[in-house]
Amino acid sequence: MTALEFTQFYNVIDGRLETTVETTHGINPSTLEPNPKVPLASEVDVNRAVAAARMAFDLWSEKPLDERRQALIAFADSLAENKGAFARMLTIEQGKPLNQAEVEVDASVKWLKQQATLSFPEDVIVDTEEQRVTTSYTPIGIAAAIVPWNFPLMLACGKLAPALLTGNALILKPSPFTPYCGLKLAELGQRHFPPGVLQALSGDDSLGPILTEHPDIDKISFTGSTATGKRVMESCSRTLKRLTLELGGNDPAIVCEDVNLMTVVPQIVQYVWANSGQLCVAIKRIYVHSSIYPQFLDAFVKMTKSLVVGDGFGASHLGPVQNKAQYTRVQSFLDNIGKTDCTVVAGGDFTNENRPGPGYFFTPTVVDNPPDDSMVVTEEPFGPVIPILQWTSEDEVIRRANNSDYGLGASVWTKDTERASRISKKLKAGTVWINSHMLLNPLAPFGGHKKSGLGAEWGVEGLKSYCNTQTFFWTKKPN
Ligand code: NAD
Repeated sequence: MTALEFTQFYNVIDGRLETTVETTHGINPSTLEPNPKVPLASEVDVNRAVAAARMAFDLWSEKPLDERRQALIAFADSLAENKGAFARMLTIEQGKPLNQAEVEVDASVKWLKQQATLSFPEDVIVDTEEQRVTTSYTPIGIAAAIVPWNFPLMLACGKLAPALLTGNALILKPSPFTPYCGLKLAELGQRHFPPGVLQALSGDDSLGPILTEHPDIDKISFTGSTATGKRVMESCSRTLKRLTLELGGNDPAIVCEDVNLMTVVPQIVQYVWANSGQLCVAIKRIYVHSSIYPQFLDAFVKMTKSLVVGDGFGASHLGPVQNKAQYTRVQSFLDNIGKTDCTVVAGGDFTNENRPGPGYFFTPTVVDNPPDDSMVVTEEPFGPVIPILQWTSEDEVIRRANNSDYGLGASVWTKDTERASRISKKLKAGTVWINSHMLLNPLAPFGGHKKSGLGAEWGVEGLKSYCNTQTFFWTKKPN
Protein backbone atom coordinates (compact mmCIF):
# COMPACT_ATOMS: atom_id res chain seq x y z
CA MET A 1 0.00 0.00 0.00
CA THR A 2 1.17 3.55 -0.65
CA ALA A 3 2.93 5.13 2.29
CA LEU A 4 1.22 8.04 4.01
CA GLU A 5 2.82 11.43 3.45
CA PHE A 6 3.22 13.68 6.48
CA THR A 7 3.37 17.18 4.98
CA GLN A 8 -0.32 18.07 4.69
CA PHE A 9 -2.90 17.40 7.39
CA TYR A 10 -6.64 17.20 7.00
CA ASN A 11 -9.87 16.82 8.88
CA VAL A 12 -11.48 13.52 7.94
CA ILE A 13 -15.23 13.88 7.39
CA ASP A 14 -17.42 11.28 5.69
CA GLY A 15 -14.44 9.58 4.05
CA ARG A 16 -13.05 12.84 2.62
CA LEU A 17 -9.86 14.69 3.52
CA GLU A 18 -10.74 18.34 4.07
CA THR A 19 -8.96 21.58 4.82
CA THR A 20 -10.54 24.69 6.33
CA VAL A 21 -10.18 28.36 5.38
CA GLU A 22 -8.84 29.25 8.79
CA THR A 23 -6.01 27.05 10.04
CA THR A 24 -3.82 26.65 13.11
CA HIS A 25 -0.57 24.81 13.86
CA GLY A 26 1.35 23.12 16.65
CA ILE A 27 4.84 24.05 17.83
CA ASN A 28 7.85 21.74 17.91
CA PRO A 29 8.60 21.87 21.66
CA SER A 30 12.33 21.25 21.13
CA THR A 31 12.97 23.94 18.51
CA LEU A 32 9.91 26.18 19.04
CA GLU A 33 9.48 26.20 15.26
CA PRO A 34 5.92 26.04 13.91
CA ASN A 35 4.75 22.64 12.72
CA PRO A 36 2.64 22.34 9.52
CA LYS A 37 -0.80 23.89 9.21
CA VAL A 38 -3.81 21.92 10.46
CA PRO A 39 -7.53 22.62 9.98
CA LEU A 40 -9.58 24.59 12.45
CA ALA A 41 -12.90 22.77 12.58
CA SER A 42 -16.07 24.80 13.14
CA GLU A 43 -19.46 23.84 14.54
CA VAL A 44 -20.63 23.33 10.95
CA ASP A 45 -17.85 20.74 10.45
CA VAL A 46 -18.91 19.00 13.68
CA ASN A 47 -22.52 18.85 12.48
CA ARG A 48 -21.43 17.39 9.14
CA ALA A 49 -19.26 14.79 10.86
CA VAL A 50 -22.07 13.84 13.23
CA ALA A 51 -24.52 13.45 10.33
CA ALA A 52 -22.03 11.24 8.46
CA ALA A 53 -21.39 9.21 11.62
CA ARG A 54 -25.13 8.63 12.10
CA MET A 55 -25.46 7.25 8.56
CA ALA A 56 -22.31 5.16 8.95
CA PHE A 57 -23.37 3.79 12.32
CA ASP A 58 -26.52 2.19 10.92
CA LEU A 59 -24.47 0.10 8.46
CA TRP A 60 -21.35 -0.47 10.56
CA SER A 61 -23.23 -1.69 13.61
CA GLU A 62 -25.05 -4.26 11.45
CA LYS A 63 -21.84 -5.75 10.07
CA PRO A 64 -20.81 -9.10 11.53
CA LEU A 65 -18.45 -8.71 14.47
CA ASP A 66 -15.76 -10.65 12.66
CA GLU A 67 -15.81 -8.22 9.74
CA ARG A 68 -15.25 -5.28 12.09
CA ARG A 69 -12.52 -7.26 13.85
CA GLN A 70 -10.70 -8.00 10.57
CA ALA A 71 -10.91 -4.35 9.49
CA LEU A 72 -9.31 -3.28 12.78
CA ILE A 73 -6.54 -5.84 12.47
CA ALA A 74 -5.77 -4.74 8.89
CA PHE A 75 -5.78 -1.12 10.07
CA ALA A 76 -3.29 -2.02 12.84
CA ASP A 77 -1.06 -3.68 10.23
CA SER A 78 -1.15 -0.50 8.11
CA LEU A 79 -0.13 1.54 11.13
CA ALA A 80 2.79 -0.83 11.72
CA GLU A 81 3.85 -0.42 8.08
CA ASN A 82 3.99 3.36 8.61
CA LYS A 83 5.80 3.10 11.96
CA GLY A 84 8.84 5.17 10.97
CA ALA A 85 6.84 8.14 9.68
CA PHE A 86 4.44 8.15 12.65
CA ALA A 87 7.36 7.94 15.12
CA ARG A 88 9.18 10.87 13.47
CA MET A 89 5.99 12.96 13.52
CA LEU A 90 5.45 12.08 17.18
CA THR A 91 8.92 13.31 18.07
CA ILE A 92 8.35 16.52 16.09
CA GLU A 93 4.95 17.29 17.57
CA GLN A 94 5.27 15.85 21.10
CA GLY A 95 9.00 16.17 21.77
CA LYS A 96 9.66 12.64 23.07
CA PRO A 97 12.91 10.90 22.05
CA LEU A 98 12.58 9.00 18.78
CA ASN A 99 13.11 5.57 20.38
CA GLN A 100 10.26 6.31 22.83
CA ALA A 101 8.10 7.50 19.93
CA GLU A 102 8.75 4.15 18.23
CA VAL A 103 7.67 2.39 21.42
CA GLU A 104 4.45 4.44 21.36
CA VAL A 105 3.72 3.38 17.76
CA ASP A 106 4.33 -0.27 18.71
CA ALA A 107 2.01 0.11 21.70
CA SER A 108 -0.64 1.71 19.47
CA VAL A 109 -0.54 -1.28 17.12
CA LYS A 110 -0.73 -3.64 20.11
CA TRP A 111 -3.67 -1.77 21.67
CA LEU A 112 -5.55 -1.93 18.36
CA LYS A 113 -4.82 -5.57 17.64
CA GLN A 114 -5.25 -7.11 21.06
CA GLN A 115 -8.48 -5.28 21.82
CA ALA A 116 -9.73 -6.35 18.38
CA THR A 117 -9.34 -9.97 19.45
CA LEU A 118 -11.62 -9.62 22.47
CA SER A 119 -14.98 -11.32 22.46
CA PHE A 120 -17.99 -10.21 24.46
CA PRO A 121 -20.67 -12.86 24.15
CA GLU A 122 -24.10 -12.36 25.64
CA ASP A 123 -24.39 -13.25 29.34
CA VAL A 124 -26.82 -16.05 30.11
CA ILE A 125 -28.47 -15.26 33.45
CA VAL A 126 -31.20 -17.94 33.51
CA ASP A 127 -31.71 -20.88 31.17
CA THR A 128 -34.43 -23.29 32.25
CA GLU A 129 -37.21 -25.10 30.44
CA GLU A 130 -39.53 -22.23 31.21
CA GLN A 131 -37.38 -19.22 30.80
CA ARG A 132 -34.20 -17.83 29.29
CA VAL A 133 -32.78 -14.51 30.47
CA THR A 134 -29.80 -13.06 28.63
CA THR A 135 -27.97 -9.77 28.54
CA SER A 136 -26.29 -8.57 25.39
CA TYR A 137 -24.26 -5.48 24.62
CA THR A 138 -25.33 -3.16 21.85
CA PRO A 139 -23.31 -0.23 20.50
CA ILE A 140 -24.22 3.17 21.91
CA GLY A 141 -24.06 5.03 18.59
CA ILE A 142 -21.74 7.96 17.93
CA ALA A 143 -18.76 8.30 20.23
CA ALA A 144 -16.26 11.14 20.42
CA ALA A 145 -12.72 10.50 21.67
CA ILE A 146 -11.03 13.51 23.27
CA VAL A 147 -7.31 12.91 23.62
CA PRO A 148 -4.47 14.76 25.43
CA TRP A 149 -1.00 15.67 24.16
CA ASN A 150 1.24 13.28 26.11
CA PHE A 151 0.50 10.02 24.20
CA PRO A 152 -1.49 11.33 21.25
CA LEU A 153 -1.32 8.16 19.16
CA MET A 154 -1.56 5.38 21.71
CA LEU A 155 -4.41 6.96 23.65
CA ALA A 156 -6.34 7.52 20.40
CA CYS A 157 -5.87 3.84 19.44
CA GLY A 158 -6.89 2.75 22.93
CA LYS A 159 -10.30 4.36 22.35
CA LEU A 160 -10.67 3.64 18.65
CA ALA A 161 -10.40 -0.15 18.86
CA PRO A 162 -13.19 -0.81 21.39
CA ALA A 163 -15.46 1.86 19.89
CA LEU A 164 -15.27 0.43 16.36
CA LEU A 165 -15.18 -3.24 17.36
CA THR A 166 -18.45 -2.87 19.25
CA GLY A 167 -20.06 -1.20 16.21
CA ASN A 168 -19.96 2.49 17.09
CA ALA A 169 -18.86 5.33 14.82
CA LEU A 170 -16.06 7.45 16.29
CA ILE A 171 -15.05 11.09 15.92
CA LEU A 172 -11.49 11.64 17.12
CA LYS A 173 -10.49 15.00 18.55
CA PRO A 174 -6.76 15.28 19.11
CA SER A 175 -5.23 17.91 21.38
CA PRO A 176 -4.58 21.24 19.61
CA PHE A 177 -0.98 20.88 20.82
CA THR A 178 -0.48 17.49 19.09
CA PRO A 179 -2.99 17.09 16.26
CA TYR A 180 -0.71 15.55 13.60
CA CYS A 181 -0.55 11.80 14.34
CA GLY A 182 -4.25 11.70 15.25
CA LEU A 183 -5.26 13.24 11.92
CA LYS A 184 -2.97 10.87 9.99
CA LEU A 185 -4.38 7.93 11.93
CA ALA A 186 -7.90 8.80 10.79
CA GLU A 187 -6.64 9.39 7.23
CA LEU A 188 -5.08 5.92 7.28
CA GLY A 189 -8.35 4.53 8.61
CA GLN A 190 -10.15 5.54 5.40
CA ARG A 191 -8.35 2.62 3.70
CA HIS A 192 -10.04 0.19 6.08
CA PHE A 193 -13.37 1.54 7.30
CA PRO A 194 -16.46 2.78 5.42
CA PRO A 195 -16.90 6.59 5.24
CA GLY A 196 -18.10 8.12 8.50
CA VAL A 197 -17.02 5.22 10.74
CA LEU A 198 -13.75 6.88 11.78
CA GLN A 199 -13.50 10.66 11.45
CA ALA A 200 -11.16 13.25 12.94
CA LEU A 201 -11.51 16.96 13.62
CA SER A 202 -8.71 19.32 14.54
CA GLY A 203 -9.60 22.54 16.26
CA ASP A 204 -8.90 24.97 19.04
CA ASP A 205 -10.17 25.08 22.63
CA SER A 206 -13.76 25.65 21.48
CA LEU A 207 -14.02 22.28 19.71
CA GLY A 208 -14.16 20.01 22.79
CA PRO A 209 -17.20 21.75 24.29
CA ILE A 210 -19.01 21.64 20.92
CA LEU A 211 -18.60 17.86 20.96
CA THR A 212 -19.55 17.35 24.61
CA GLU A 213 -22.69 19.46 24.20
CA HIS A 214 -23.78 18.05 20.86
CA PRO A 215 -27.27 16.52 21.14
CA ASP A 216 -26.56 13.77 18.63
CA ILE A 217 -23.28 12.47 20.09
CA ASP A 218 -24.04 9.59 22.44
CA LYS A 219 -20.78 8.91 24.24
CA ILE A 220 -17.65 10.83 25.21
CA SER A 221 -14.44 9.07 26.06
CA PHE A 222 -12.17 11.72 27.56
CA THR A 223 -8.55 11.51 28.65
CA GLY A 224 -7.01 14.61 30.17
CA SER A 225 -6.75 16.64 33.33
CA THR A 226 -9.13 16.34 36.27
CA ALA A 227 -10.08 20.01 35.95
CA THR A 228 -11.18 19.58 32.31
CA GLY A 229 -12.79 16.22 33.14
CA LYS A 230 -15.15 17.99 35.56
CA ARG A 231 -16.15 20.45 32.83
CA VAL A 232 -16.71 17.57 30.41
CA MET A 233 -18.91 15.75 32.92
CA GLU A 234 -20.96 18.87 33.57
CA SER A 235 -21.43 19.46 29.87
CA CYS A 236 -22.35 15.81 29.15
CA SER A 237 -24.95 15.89 31.91
CA ARG A 238 -27.12 18.22 29.83
CA THR A 239 -27.73 15.51 27.23
CA LEU A 240 -27.12 12.56 29.59
CA LYS A 241 -24.30 11.32 27.39
CA ARG A 242 -22.50 8.15 28.36
CA LEU A 243 -19.08 9.11 29.67
CA THR A 244 -15.69 7.62 30.47
CA LEU A 245 -13.12 9.84 32.16
CA GLU A 246 -9.41 9.00 32.39
CA LEU A 247 -7.92 11.82 34.42
CA GLY A 248 -4.85 12.91 36.34
CA GLY A 249 -2.78 10.95 38.82
CA ASN A 250 -0.25 11.40 41.61
CA ASP A 251 1.06 7.85 41.83
CA PRO A 252 2.97 6.84 44.97
CA ALA A 253 5.67 4.15 44.99
CA ILE A 254 6.38 2.57 48.38
CA VAL A 255 9.91 1.19 48.64
CA CYS A 256 10.53 -1.23 51.54
CA GLU A 257 13.88 -1.74 53.25
CA ASP A 258 14.50 -5.24 51.83
CA VAL A 259 14.80 -4.25 48.14
CA ASN A 260 17.93 -4.69 46.08
CA LEU A 261 18.84 -1.08 45.30
CA MET A 262 21.10 -2.10 42.40
CA THR A 263 18.12 -3.45 40.46
CA VAL A 264 15.24 -1.40 41.86
CA VAL A 265 16.65 2.12 41.52
CA PRO A 266 17.19 1.91 37.71
CA GLN A 267 13.61 0.73 37.28
CA ILE A 268 12.17 3.49 39.43
CA VAL A 269 14.31 6.04 37.56
CA GLN A 270 12.70 4.83 34.35
CA TYR A 271 9.15 4.97 35.76
CA VAL A 272 9.68 8.51 37.04
CA TRP A 273 11.33 10.18 34.04
CA ALA A 274 9.65 8.41 31.10
CA ASN A 275 8.22 11.00 28.70
CA SER A 276 9.79 13.65 30.98
CA GLY A 277 7.26 12.80 33.71
CA GLN A 278 4.33 13.62 31.40
CA LEU A 279 2.59 10.33 31.92
CA CYS A 280 -0.57 9.82 33.90
CA VAL A 281 0.88 6.67 35.48
CA ALA A 282 4.43 7.92 36.07
CA ILE A 283 5.64 7.57 39.65
CA LYS A 284 5.05 11.03 41.14
CA ARG A 285 5.87 10.42 44.83
CA ILE A 286 8.54 7.98 46.07
CA TYR A 287 8.26 6.83 49.71
CA VAL A 288 11.50 5.10 50.79
CA HIS A 289 11.99 3.32 54.12
CA SER A 290 14.18 5.52 56.34
CA SER A 291 16.76 2.74 56.90
CA ILE A 292 17.76 2.77 53.21
CA TYR A 293 16.80 6.37 52.40
CA PRO A 294 20.34 7.84 52.11
CA GLN A 295 21.55 5.02 49.85
CA PHE A 296 18.40 5.15 47.71
CA LEU A 297 18.58 8.93 47.34
CA ASP A 298 22.26 8.82 46.43
CA ALA A 299 21.78 6.13 43.75
CA PHE A 300 18.63 7.79 42.36
CA VAL A 301 20.31 11.20 42.12
CA LYS A 302 23.44 9.75 40.46
CA MET A 303 21.37 8.00 37.79
CA THR A 304 19.16 11.03 37.27
CA LYS A 305 22.19 13.29 36.76
CA SER A 306 23.51 10.94 34.07
CA LEU A 307 20.36 11.37 31.95
CA VAL A 308 20.68 13.51 28.83
CA VAL A 309 18.00 16.13 28.15
CA GLY A 310 17.60 17.40 24.60
CA ASP A 311 15.95 17.25 21.20
CA GLY A 312 14.25 13.91 20.62
CA PHE A 313 16.26 13.39 17.43
CA GLY A 314 19.53 13.53 19.40
CA ALA A 315 20.89 10.99 21.89
CA SER A 316 18.58 12.18 24.63
CA HIS A 317 16.78 10.31 27.40
CA LEU A 318 14.34 13.14 28.13
CA GLY A 319 12.78 15.53 25.65
CA PRO A 320 11.23 18.89 26.50
CA VAL A 321 7.86 19.34 28.19
CA GLN A 322 5.29 19.56 25.46
CA ASN A 323 3.98 23.12 25.47
CA LYS A 324 4.34 26.56 26.93
CA ALA A 325 1.44 26.24 29.40
CA GLN A 326 2.96 23.04 30.75
CA TYR A 327 6.41 24.68 30.90
CA THR A 328 4.91 27.50 32.98
CA ARG A 329 3.17 24.95 35.22
CA VAL A 330 6.37 22.99 35.88
CA GLN A 331 8.18 26.29 36.48
CA SER A 332 5.56 27.14 39.13
CA PHE A 333 6.55 23.95 41.01
CA LEU A 334 10.23 24.96 40.86
CA ASP A 335 9.34 28.48 42.04
CA ASN A 336 7.32 27.05 44.92
CA ILE A 337 10.19 24.71 45.89
CA GLY A 338 12.55 27.72 45.80
CA LYS A 339 10.27 29.69 48.15
CA THR A 340 10.03 26.89 50.75
CA ASP A 341 12.59 24.97 52.79
CA CYS A 342 12.71 22.10 50.29
CA THR A 343 16.15 20.83 49.30
CA VAL A 344 16.80 20.24 45.62
CA VAL A 345 19.43 17.51 45.21
CA ALA A 346 19.38 17.25 41.41
CA GLY A 347 18.19 19.53 38.64
CA GLY A 348 16.57 22.88 39.05
CA ASP A 349 16.50 25.16 36.04
CA PHE A 350 19.03 25.23 33.20
CA THR A 351 21.38 28.18 33.05
CA ASN A 352 21.57 30.00 29.70
CA GLU A 353 24.94 28.31 29.03
CA ASN A 354 23.85 24.70 29.38
CA ARG A 355 20.37 24.82 27.82
CA PRO A 356 20.16 22.01 25.23
CA GLY A 357 18.14 24.17 22.83
CA PRO A 358 15.53 26.88 22.57
CA GLY A 359 12.68 24.53 23.59
CA TYR A 360 10.79 23.83 26.79
CA PHE A 361 13.60 21.96 28.54
CA PHE A 362 13.98 21.25 32.26
CA THR A 363 16.69 19.26 34.00
CA PRO A 364 15.07 16.39 35.92
CA THR A 365 14.65 17.74 39.44
CA VAL A 366 14.75 15.71 42.67
CA VAL A 367 13.46 17.14 45.95
CA ASP A 368 14.82 15.60 49.18
CA ASN A 369 12.16 14.74 51.75
CA PRO A 370 9.81 17.75 51.36
CA PRO A 371 6.90 18.20 53.81
CA ASP A 372 3.78 16.13 53.01
CA ASP A 373 1.75 19.28 52.46
CA SER A 374 4.15 20.85 49.95
CA MET A 375 2.91 21.50 46.41
CA VAL A 376 5.35 19.01 44.87
CA VAL A 377 3.80 16.22 46.99
CA THR A 378 0.12 17.13 46.85
CA GLU A 379 -0.22 18.19 43.20
CA GLU A 380 0.58 16.52 39.89
CA PRO A 381 3.49 18.37 38.21
CA PHE A 382 3.13 16.33 34.99
CA GLY A 383 6.76 17.16 34.28
CA PRO A 384 10.29 16.23 35.37
CA VAL A 385 10.06 16.98 39.11
CA ILE A 386 9.91 14.27 41.81
CA PRO A 387 9.76 14.33 45.62
CA ILE A 388 11.46 11.49 47.55
CA LEU A 389 10.10 11.01 51.06
CA GLN A 390 11.02 8.89 54.10
CA TRP A 391 8.78 6.50 55.99
CA THR A 392 9.16 4.28 59.04
CA SER A 393 5.94 2.34 59.69
CA GLU A 394 3.69 0.49 57.28
CA ASP A 395 0.43 2.02 58.51
CA GLU A 396 1.92 5.48 58.26
CA VAL A 397 3.16 5.08 54.69
CA ILE A 398 -0.12 3.55 53.49
CA ARG A 399 -2.02 6.47 54.99
CA ARG A 400 0.31 9.01 53.37
CA ALA A 401 0.25 7.22 50.00
CA ASN A 402 -3.57 7.24 50.05
CA ASN A 403 -3.78 10.82 51.25
CA SER A 404 -4.51 12.22 47.81
CA ASP A 405 -7.51 13.26 45.75
CA TYR A 406 -6.07 11.08 43.01
CA GLY A 407 -6.19 7.29 42.78
CA LEU A 408 -4.84 6.29 39.40
CA GLY A 409 -1.85 3.99 40.12
CA ALA A 410 0.37 2.96 43.04
CA SER A 411 3.17 0.49 43.61
CA VAL A 412 4.91 -1.40 46.38
CA TRP A 413 8.47 -2.66 46.13
CA THR A 414 9.56 -5.52 48.40
CA LYS A 415 10.87 -9.10 48.28
CA ASP A 416 8.39 -10.11 51.00
CA THR A 417 5.33 -11.51 49.22
CA GLU A 418 3.05 -11.39 52.25
CA ARG A 419 3.95 -7.79 52.92
CA ALA A 420 3.48 -6.94 49.22
CA SER A 421 0.04 -8.47 49.24
CA ARG A 422 -0.92 -6.75 52.52
CA ILE A 423 0.19 -3.29 51.44
CA SER A 424 -1.04 -3.51 47.84
CA LYS A 425 -4.59 -4.39 48.92
CA LYS A 426 -4.75 -1.25 51.06
CA LEU A 427 -3.72 1.12 48.27
CA LYS A 428 -6.62 3.12 46.86
CA ALA A 429 -5.84 3.17 43.17
CA GLY A 430 -7.23 1.72 39.95
CA THR A 431 -3.98 -0.06 39.13
CA VAL A 432 -1.56 -1.41 41.73
CA TRP A 433 1.80 -2.85 40.82
CA ILE A 434 4.05 -5.06 42.94
CA ASN A 435 7.75 -4.62 42.11
CA SER A 436 7.02 -2.58 38.98
CA HIS A 437 5.00 0.42 37.91
CA MET A 438 3.45 1.74 34.69
CA LEU A 439 3.05 -1.68 33.05
CA LEU A 440 -0.23 -1.69 31.14
CA ASN A 441 -2.07 -4.28 29.10
CA PRO A 442 -4.74 -3.70 26.44
CA LEU A 443 -6.71 -6.66 27.82
CA ALA A 444 -6.72 -5.38 31.42
CA PRO A 445 -9.23 -2.69 32.45
CA PHE A 446 -7.61 0.63 33.25
CA GLY A 447 -9.33 3.37 35.23
CA GLY A 448 -8.90 5.67 38.18
CA HIS A 449 -10.36 5.78 41.67
CA LYS A 450 -11.40 9.07 43.29
CA LYS A 451 -10.67 12.13 41.10
CA SER A 452 -8.56 10.10 38.67
CA GLY A 453 -11.53 9.06 36.61
CA LEU A 454 -14.86 7.46 36.03
CA GLY A 455 -15.32 4.03 34.46
CA ALA A 456 -12.56 2.07 32.78
CA GLU A 457 -11.04 1.59 29.36
CA TRP A 458 -9.52 -1.48 27.68
CA GLY A 459 -10.26 -5.14 28.25
CA VAL A 460 -13.86 -6.37 28.22
CA GLU A 461 -14.77 -3.52 30.61
CA GLY A 462 -13.57 -1.12 27.94
CA LEU A 463 -15.72 -2.76 25.26
CA LYS A 464 -18.75 -2.54 27.52
CA SER A 465 -18.10 1.16 28.06
CA TYR A 466 -19.07 1.69 24.40
CA CYS A 467 -22.26 -0.37 24.76
CA ASN A 468 -25.73 -0.26 26.21
CA THR A 469 -26.84 -3.37 28.03
CA GLN A 470 -29.97 -5.05 26.74
CA THR A 471 -31.61 -7.78 28.76
CA PHE A 472 -34.04 -10.24 27.18
CA PHE A 473 -36.61 -12.23 29.17
CA TRP A 474 -37.86 -15.05 27.00
CA THR A 475 -40.81 -17.06 28.37
CA LYS A 476 -40.45 -20.35 26.53
CA LYS A 477 -43.91 -21.77 27.20
CA PRO A 478 -46.34 -18.96 26.53
CA ASN A 479 -49.79 -19.29 28.17
P1 NAD B 1 -6.48 18.75 29.13
O1 NAD B 1 -7.54 18.37 30.07
O2 NAD B 1 -6.00 20.14 29.10
O3 NAD B 1 -6.90 18.42 27.62
C1 NAD B 1 -7.28 17.13 27.21
C2 NAD B 1 -8.14 17.23 25.96
O4 NAD B 1 -9.35 17.91 26.28
C3 NAD B 1 -7.53 18.03 24.81
O5 NAD B 1 -7.87 17.40 23.59
C4 NAD B 1 -8.23 19.38 24.93
O6 NAD B 1 -8.28 20.08 23.70
C5 NAD B 1 -9.61 18.96 25.37
N1 NAD B 1 -10.39 19.98 26.07
C6 NAD B 1 -9.95 21.09 26.72
N2 NAD B 1 -10.97 21.75 27.28
C7 NAD B 1 -12.11 21.04 27.00
C8 NAD B 1 -13.48 21.19 27.33
N3 NAD B 1 -13.94 22.22 28.06
N4 NAD B 1 -14.36 20.27 26.87
C9 NAD B 1 -13.95 19.21 26.15
N5 NAD B 1 -12.64 19.02 25.80
C10 NAD B 1 -11.73 19.91 26.23
O7 NAD B 1 -5.28 17.72 29.45
P2 NAD B 1 -3.81 17.73 28.87
O8 NAD B 1 -3.08 18.88 29.49
O9 NAD B 1 -3.87 17.62 27.39
O10 NAD B 1 -3.26 16.35 29.45
C11 NAD B 1 -2.61 16.23 30.69
C12 NAD B 1 -3.50 15.61 31.74
O11 NAD B 1 -4.06 14.40 31.25
C13 NAD B 1 -2.76 15.22 33.01
O12 NAD B 1 -3.50 15.58 34.15
C14 NAD B 1 -2.66 13.70 32.92
O13 NAD B 1 -2.51 13.06 34.16
C15 NAD B 1 -3.93 13.37 32.23
N6 NAD B 1 -3.84 12.08 31.57
C16 NAD B 1 -4.59 11.04 32.07
C17 NAD B 1 -4.49 9.78 31.48
C18 NAD B 1 -5.31 8.63 32.01
O14 NAD B 1 -5.46 7.66 31.28
N7 NAD B 1 -5.84 8.68 33.21
C19 NAD B 1 -3.65 9.58 30.39
C20 NAD B 1 -2.91 10.65 29.91
C21 NAD B 1 -3.03 11.90 30.50
